[in-house]
Amino acid sequence: MGDREGGKGLLSGLDSHSPNRREFLKIITIAAASVGLPVSAVGKMAEAAAKKGKPSVIWLHFQECTGCTESLLRTSHPALSSLILDLVSLDYHETLFAAAGFQAEDALNAAIKANAGKFVLVVEGAIPVKDNGIYCKVGGKTALQILNEVAPQAGAIIAIGSCASFGGIPAADPNPTGATGVPQILKGKTVVTLPGCPANPYNLLGTVLQFATYGTLPALDELGRPRFAYTRVIHEDCPRRPHFDAGRFAEKFGEGAHRDGHCLYKLGCKGPVTHANCSLLPFGEMPGAWPIGIGHPCVGCTEQKVAFRIPMFEVVPIHNATPPSTYAPVAESGGKLSIPAALGAGAALGALAGAGLVASRKFSGKSGDQGVPGERRRVSGKEGPPADPGDEK
Ligand code: SF4
Repeated sequence: MGDREGGKGLLSGLDSHSPNRREFLKIITIAAASVGLPVSAVGKMAEAAAKKGKPSVIWLHFQECTGCTESLLRTSHPALSSLILDLVSLDYHETLFAAAGFQAEDALNAAIKANAGKFVLVVEGAIPVKDNGIYCKVGGKTALQILNEVAPQAGAIIAIGSCASFGGIPAADPNPTGATGVPQILKGKTVVTLPGCPANPYNLLGTVLQFATYGTLPALDELGRPRFAYTRVIHEDCPRRPHFDAGRFAEKFGEGAHRDGHCLYKLGCKGPVTHANCSLLPFGEMPGAWPIGIGHPCVGCTEQKVAFRIPMFEVVPIHNATPPSTYAPVAESGGKLSIPAALGAGAALGALAGAGLVASRKFSGKSGDQGVPGERRRVSGKEGPPADPGDEK
């Protein structure tokens, strides 16, 4: 499976006018940009991808729905699935493998032996730890055993999807199998997490290509997520944001405001607390192919404490939606407050309080609407802004 064309990469035999080559370079360019590398890196990445020694990838499945693999394979234009099979040497993948049983186990052992210390281990799915992990077994071994055997021999470890990153759906309350994520098992090891349900294939491709080209991993946040993809919250780059700012909200699915693309905040959108690049890199390169793009509120699947933890239609706090209620005093060097400065500060504070009040009213529904938790308290100046769940972890 690894080198399907007898060692010839996709670049081999393609002239500069070939549409395949153009598509290939386009993918590489997107991948380089997604990991924050300069355009000059495209050539190096393409060169590395075209070499015979493509990075070996060993992909393990545990407690999951295979959605991350499906997402990777069902991209349509260009066919990222075929490109990724040419860009990397996918030496073990249970879903795509023709082999089964002992043959598959032998292939796994052979791939580990041939690429010890160099291969990229991709884990899809959570790992149950309750009752010694008996709730997920492959070839007679628990997921826990397999992970603990394979991971120490890997050159880089990537947990793809929310389940592998922090437990995801299998770990949702009451978590009957004690499901947990890869970083929680491999304590002390660097694990790149690519949460998402499913994860965006470009985030995987960018990370693997950076490792293959430079031997480095992208800068990570405190949850192990690459900063290139998980620094900004969905709310910052959402195409419905102008409606949020203007106070136009959909309140029912299928109604006019919903169809007109108004903000989904009141339908429980978790975009304001969810760090991800879904709106910038839609799935399958199809414009609009992401939850909010098709009219569903963001469920916060890239956050450990949001999706499958906070009820679907519950609203989340808006971090810093209103200005702070107090500012440092404006004083002249002599220590006296100047009259113009005092007037200016007073006017500014008045305007800010007014803006805060307008903002709080925007969230007030007709009846029974709870608005944004803590929002009115902040306008009164008694309490600070509510914590952003994304900042707590
Ligand atoms: Fe977009 Fe959700 Fe923010 Fe509304 S609340 S602007 S739908 S991310």
